Amino acid sequence: MLGIKNKKVKELLNSYKEISVLQKTLALLSWDLNVNLPASAGEERALQIAYITKLLTDRWLNGKFRDVLDRAVNKKEKFTQEEKAVIRNLKQAGKYYFKVPKEIITEFAETTSRSFLAWQEAKLNNNFGDFLPHLKKVIRLNQIIAQHLGYEDNPYDALLDMYEPGLTTSKMKRIFSLLKPELLELLERIKKSKTYKQKDGLKQEDYPVDDQKQLALFILRRIGYDMNSGRMDVSSHPFTESLGRFDVRITNRYSTSDFIESMMVALHEGGHALYEQGIKKEYSQTPLEGGVSLGVHESQSRFWENQIGRSYEFIRFVTPILHAFYPQQLMDFGSETFFKRVVRVRPGLIRTQADEITYNLHIAIRFELEDGLINERIDPEDLPNIWNKLMKKYLGVVPTSDSEGVLQDVHWSYGSFGYFPTYTLGNLYAAQFANSIRREIDIEKLCEKGDFGPILSWLRTNIHQHGSLYWPDELVRKVTGEQLNAKYFLAYVKEKYKRVYSL
Ligand code: MG
Repeated sequence: MLGIKNKKVKELLNSYKEISVLQKTLALLSWDLNVNLPASAGEERALQIAYITKLLTDRWLNGKFRDVLDRAVNKKEKFTQEEKAVIRNLKQAGKYYFKVPKEIITEFAETTSRSFLAWQEAKLNNNFGDFLPHLKKVIRLNQIIAQHLGYEDNPYDALLDMYEPGLTTSKMKRIFSLLKPELLELLERIKKSKTYKQKDGLKQEDYPVDDQKQLALFILRRIGYDMNSGRMDVSSHPFTESLGRFDVRITNRYSTSDFIESMMVALHEGGHALYEQGIKKEYSQTPLEGGVSLGVHESQSRFWENQIGRSYEFIRFVTPILHAFYPQQLMDFGSETFFKRVVRVRPGLIRTQADEITYNLHIAIRFELEDGLINERIDPEDLPNIWNKLMKKYLGVVPTSDSEGVLQDVHWSYGSFGYFPTYTLGNLYAAQFANSIRREIDIEKLCEKGDFGPILSWLRTNIHQHGSLYWPDELVRKVTGEQLNAKYFLAYVKEKYKRVYSL
């Protein structure tokens, strides 16, 4: 077991087991909601989720548990590294329950389940006005929650910290001030290039869902996803849900006219899943279980999707397999064509379909809007207008409907303000980690052979096994020797896309 001898910490671990079980029960209910739930079962499921959430809140607020944790936090005695991490993680995860009044927690849960339904309707009917009153409430509650959580400079900091411990608005502003000018310049040069205007020759064809599924499973097994501790289902938005170290589920989605998306989703969600499946078994049902933060989690998915999946060598490896799966449709095309397609840069309206260059610009827009909304510099009523202006400014495209604009993402309806920036952090961490891996192993050569074992075992040794032992800052220093630095991502995209677009 863990190197834990301290009596108080042992007591905390015992109490945490119940929290862990309840959290996974909630995760299972929500996985099932997204994958299997019959259309009429929504009401019943909402009741079940609300009840388990109440039990979970009660466990966090249990007086004795809280008391032991407070005494451990304030204790000056020498703790081992794992003991310290247990206390730190409980303090961080419990902050929301300890600092925010119970009525607000309940109100937030009720408001966001209603605003989610309202958002679905509003998006379907392309009517921002129907979502607006809900959004206003969600923003107001986030402001109240930020006040209770506390912050130094900016209330938005308190929200960012819930998704990425230690992240602040000013830190994120610095990152975007480095990324934006360079990405915008690169994008301009790409748009002016000859290659940008060329067509790849791939035609609309039919790619049967079952073939896509078999291909995705083949790739998942090949990169090391353990199917005995996981499964792949279908959902409208792909996601990974960990119900424990031995039950890490992913979902995919299939469009019969596109053979690439489901392959990339498999690599992306597979990356999230490999992280969870690689965590030390001893950390199960302790506060060290699970990936350490959303940013680091996203680095693992982005690594497999972009650094691996969008490399020429991976495409070379997968080309004969594509030919075998889709002989009629793809036999006339080779790896050059497939590679051009997977690295195609196209400024578009939808974040989830964005390429490696424009993705972070989509996030920059959401970050500016969230900071503005939480600090009341932006009136929620003006949101569609400001959204469109920023899209024009950064991406040169303007949505013709709110469904494709301000209503496209689910996050705000869930009440998640401060979540988006972790996507950009994931891209940056991934490039920085990849830089360190490349110092030790030849990723490209391995990709070409389809030999992913050494890459996975590097990730397992350096990142996965630790679960939530090290916080993101500590982890990135330990793995790469320095703090998070945008220069690795910028060097990576510049090098790659200058080659792709012959700049
Ligand atoms: Mg992801």
